[in-house]
Amino acid sequence: MKYKRILLKLSGEALEGSKDYGIDPVRLQHYAEDVKQVVDLGVQVAIVIGGGNFFRGVDAEASGIDRVQGDYMGMLATVINGMALQSAMERLGLYTRLQSGIKMEQVCEPFIKRRAVRHLEKGRVVIFGAGIGSPYFTTDSAASLRAIEIGADVVLKGTRVDGIYTSDPEKNPSAERYTKISFTEVYQKGLNVMDMTAITLCQENNLPIIVFDMNKRGNLLKVLSGESVGTLVTA
Ligand code: UDP
Repeated sequence: MKYKRILLKLSGEALEGSKDYGIDPVRLQHYAEDVKQVVDLGVQVAIVIGGGNFFRGVDAEASGIDRVQGDYMGMLATVINGMALQSAMERLGLYTRLQSGIKMEQVCEPFIKRRAVRHLEKGRVVIFGAGIGSPYFTTDSAASLRAIEIGADVVLKGTRVDGIYTSDPEKNPSAERYTKISFTEVYQKGLNVMDMTAITLCQENNLPIIVFDMNKRGNLLKVLSGESVGTLVTA
């Protein structure tokens, strides 16, 4: 496998699948199966999961909820998704741990870097919930930060688009996919990959990002096998 330890970022919105809200069990199962495929091949997998299928701080603010309060609500939503994913993976026989940036002892461990690394070394999938644990951040930034902390080889951003395009492929049919692009080009061209905090963290710590379509079954394995799936962002 091309990478030994990965940080997979899954958006909460993607978990909605064909539903308008919440968690689609079909999508959940698919993600768990795809993760199992690579764990079975010896890849150490850590996951940061979003919460946009339930709640986002910015949207809450628009409806009159205090922003900080809304962000904490969003973080709690990511823990709900993490618990669902944990359960789906355990059903397939995987060993897992959920660690949260906000203490919730009855449902998960607190985030402890050394402990997370130990779990990974033992072949357990570690899910990081509650993002960074602070408001005004996103789970993309949490993905970059946790990846750096645990010494991951790459951040794999699983989305519903199969990479980074010259313009939005859902709006512009002539948009072309980059197979590889530099961090600097991402800034210069104003491409929408991850938020700036997330990208900057990766750039400063020389951590590559691969943006790929996680909704296509088996794609995670393809990325790890070194197939040119998605877009690679490097220095
Ligand atoms: N959030 C936060 N700090 C973090 C991570 C998340 O405040 O470190 C909040 C923020 O309100 C965000 C919400 O949790 O909108 C859900 O996360 P995100 O929007 O990143 O989820 P995704 O878009 O991946 O589904």
